[in-house]
Amino acid sequence: MVEEQASLVRAMNVRFNVPTSGTESVDLVWAAGRVLAEPVAADRDLPPFPRSTRDGYAVRSSDLSKLPGALEVIAEIKAGARLDEIPPSIASGQVASIMTGAPVPDGADAVVMVEYTRPQGARVEVAKGVAPGENIVPRGAEARAGAPLLERGLLLNEAAIALAASVGKSQLQVYQRPRIAVLTTGDEVVSVDATPGPTQIRNSNSYSLAAQIRRAGGEPVLLPVAPDEMQALRGLIAEGLKSDLLLMTGGVSMGRYDLVEQALSEMHTEFFFTGAKIQPGRPVVFGKCGAGAPAREKPFTYFFGLPGNPVSTMVTFELFARPLLEALAGQSPRKRPFLHARLKKEIHVKTGLKRFLPAILSGEFEQSEVELVAWQGSGDIAAMARANCYVVIPSDREHIAAGEWVAVMMR
Ligand code: AMP
Ligand code: MG
Repeated sequence: MVEEQASLVRAMNVRFNVPTSGTESVDLVWAAGRVLAEPVAADRDLPPFPRSTRDGYAVRSSDLSKLPGALEVIAEIKAGARLDEIPPSIASGQVASIMTGAPVPDGADAVVMVEYTRPQGARVEVAKGVAPGENIVPRGAEARAGAPLLERGLLLNEAAIALAASVGKSQLQVYQRPRIAVLTTGDEVVSVDATPGPTQIRNSNSYSLAAQIRRAGGEPVLLPVAPDEMQALRGLIAEGLKSDLLLMTGGVSMGRYDLVEQALSEMHTEFFFTGAKIQPGRPVVFGKCGAGAPAREKPFTYFFGLPGNPVSTMVTFELFARPLLEALAGQSPRKRPFLHARLKKEIHVKTGLKRFLPAILSGEFEQSEVELVAWQGSGDIAAMARANCYVVIPSDREHIAAGEWVAVMMR
């Protein structure tokens, strides 16, 4: 039984030496959500010239020691001005009208905002002084030419993409998405297109997992539903072990037909843990299996046996499978951040397990509040579909009062 902390698995690519897939080149437009496989450095100083951050006048700050100052306007510098349009220097008593994003000429050491000025023919009257450096970003202040900007293993977001664009990278090398096999088990489970018998249910877990896998940067590979029968289960597990990671759902609790652990233990398997002190999700198992490996020329495949109850499947994916998937996808390990919000209505639970309960987070800015959704337990997909997060309750808490701050795990 592992402790509830997912940090155990977070550190996995260090402890378990997780291999990453190959790399490919993507257009910057499609790079968001991919994992960077090359370092990106500044191709020149950022900004490449001292940049005015305001519309106004480039001045010598010492000229404004007496106010109001009346100064001679010798030029107008717009953003993108050619070098021959920029005065070589601003002398004492002179200013240049300047726009946001334009280069500040030599001699000037500050920009006065246009709001504090009044044009008077060839001169301008300035009503307010400025400190040296005010409203100017010096050349190279954001990054020096050659400085590393983005590291390998970074999950690319819009800011990283903007930075890559600003240094001229229209294509980026990223890691290929790992292929994640999904195998669901249970005689009662039928495919979505089939007409279920009166005691059967449709396979929803393979689809929730496919969605989570895609969101985490993987490529889902859905296998047929395995019956609760050893021979067929073995064959499908062997098939799944050809992928970069095998996720199984169902068949890992203590039922008489929960065959997954038994099938795996016959297949050169090492279990890292069987069970976690959480609810939902207690029976989750994690290990690696050597079988099926020769086909891919790799010594083993990691696998998770996730509980079959749909909410348990979703929670255990987020806590345990996702960090490993991210490592396989080339991401540097990171701790999962949790938000905090005020609890709207009190909660009573039993102690002993850390709880992840479906909830609705609402409100905005400092007013965020969270409330559990009414549910019928971890099989209740309809309740889960109304939720947008989980409230996390520590294992030693029995009662949490309305108004208390609680940890929230986003989906
Ligand atoms: P198990 O972990 O096999 O004991 O299953 C726990 C519960 O989850 C049972 O009610 C199963 O019917 C249900 N279940 C198992 N697999 C799926 C699936 N793929 N989709 C929806 N429900 C499932
Ligand atoms: Mg089952």
